Amino acid sequence: MRGRRRDPAPVMHRGRDGDVPVRVLRHPRWRALRLRVDERGVTVTMPARTPAMQARAFVASHRAWIDDALAARPVAPGPGDERRARAAARPALVALVDAWAPRVGVAPTRVVVRSQRSRWGSASRRGTISLNHRLALAPAPVAEYVVVHELCHLVHMDHSPAFWALVRKHLPGFEGHREWLRRHGAAILADTPPPPDAEG
Ligand SMILES: [Zn+2]
Repeated sequence: MRGRRRDPAPVMHRGRDGDVPVRVLRHPRWRALRLRVDERGVTVTMPARTPAMQARAFVASHRAWIDDALAARPVAPGPGDERRARAAARPALVALVDAWAPRVGVAPTRVVVRSQRSRWGSASRRGTISLNHRLALAPAPVAEYVVVHELCHLVHMDHSPAFWALVRKHLPGFEGHREWLRRHGAAILADTPPPPDAEG
């Protein structure tokens, strides 16, 4: 098997507008093949032992999705666009914070809507809750989970078992939302459509 992993031929996406080389990344912990299209191009992530021919078949079977994602790739959104997106997302996010803060038993001092590329939210010791405007693009229960998660950080500033127990107390089914973010979060933060999965 080991020998089959060495496949020097590059994986290509045979797209509508020509061939696009595909970056192939492997990691022992990755369980499924996944596709990502962002400003760096097309990337397949997959388990360490998966042969390149499987990546080729996976890319070929998602040809239309990749073409669409490549066409939809944002050309560096201007600061004005992000400011508008934050203003549009703010009322719903503030409403979620207002609804959940008393239930969790905390009183945030400030709600800030940001446009970070790498995180959905954060909480500071001074009581500021920061939330990503792209939560407006996630399913409502997922956005709610992020809000509850950050509010629980005003009680526990860590990811200790006590923290997760508090999240679970308020949102018993939160693991599904966390899993959703693991699967689709990066694509939304990168402003690309949710990627198809090889499994599930
Ligand atoms: Zn956290």
